[in-house]
Amino acid sequence: MLPERRPGVQRPTSGPLVDAFGRVHTYLRVSVTDRCNYRCAYCMPAAGLDWMKREDLLTYEEIARIVTALARCGIVRIRLTGGEPTVRKGLPDLVARLAAIEGITDIAMTTNGHLFAKDAAVFARAGLRRLNVSIDSLDPVQFKRLTRGGDLARVLDSVAAARDQGLVPVKINAVIIGNENEDQVDAMVDHFASDAATTQVRFIEYMPFSALADGVAQGQSWKHVAASRLRERLAKRWTLEPVDVSQGSGPAKHWRLVESGLIVGFISPITEHFCESCNRLRLQADGHLRTCLSREAAPSLRDVIRAGITDEALEQALRERVWGKIAGHDAHELGSGLAFDGAMTSVGG
Ligand code: SAM
Ligand code: SF4
Repeated sequence: MLPERRPGVQRPTSGPLVDAFGRVHTYLRVSVTDRCNYRCAYCMPAAGLDWMKREDLLTYEEIARIVTALARCGIVRIRLTGGEPTVRKGLPDLVARLAAIEGITDIAMTTNGHLFAKDAAVFARAGLRRLNVSIDSLDPVQFKRLTRGGDLARVLDSVAAARDQGLVPVKINAVIIGNENEDQVDAMVDHFASDAATTQVRFIEYMPFSALADGVAQGQSWKHVAASRLRERLAKRWTLEPVDVSQGSGPAKHWRLVESGLIVGFISPITEHFCESCNRLRLQADGHLRTCLSREAAPSLRDVIRAGITDEALEQALRERVWGKIAGHDAHELGSGLAFDGAMTSVGG
């Protein structure tokens, strides 16, 4: 269900960051780069994308300025993502800057884990609190194929390094694709069963982004698998008990596998979408504030900042954009069409 507009309610100029549907926003995902050292087949074409120009990226100072303004409006949690965030130089410096902003209580990061292990301690010292690591297969050959070159052993080292630094629970994100890695649902819950105290596993439905259009034109077809089907699959082997572990209204719905204690989440933007309770905003690497995952047309905040906007005017501009957020996406009606504008890497999935 999509939320309904509240007739007659005016946009507030202070207080929580609210949209015209009454949704309050407390969570920001920051994409620090659209570049990546992997080429996951469901995320981008083998040749990569037309990367943003370096001068078009927000500097760390500009990101901190926008986050400071958003924190004044009630944003408390930040997640760094990309592209692959760890390929951007000096990222721990950004973490430290963001951790110092009044009102920010939690900084997390989503990574492919290729470069994280060696810097885990530096990130933890800078103020990183938690880590999500994307692993779509525990079979090294399939992993290499899906990521077009990824190294599973390095990624698992990063999971271990995050645990050692107390960045827990480490959340393993797996995109499950029909006829490709559905069997990995069993492999994942078996593999991480013994780490149930420090690790959770989340299964994500494939989202059809328009950046994948070339592959689709050449006959590549990535099919999303409904979360309900994966739950039924697990229920044949495990007793599933629903649990509420999401802080605020995160998109994942969680179950505990009673026999192992492992918590398993399902993120199902297509079949059980969560637009009604969406509390998140996405700051793209080039400064566009994307209020809905599916599309965004507003001009870049980078340009208004570089044009010299005052802090007060920036805060009101942010409030205006959030007020204009659309009700939600309609991918569930469009089936497997390319329902999401752009690329996951610039949006910051
Ligand atoms: N590079 C980092 C990583 O892979 O974790 C962070 C960015 S990546 C875009 C963030 C998440 O989006 C990953 O968990 C990835 O699996 C997921 N993702 C990418 N393309 C997707 C798609 N088309 N549908 C669903 N999830 C996708
Ligand atoms: Fe890179 Fe992450 Fe996309 Fe894979 S999912 S290509 S690691 S941005």
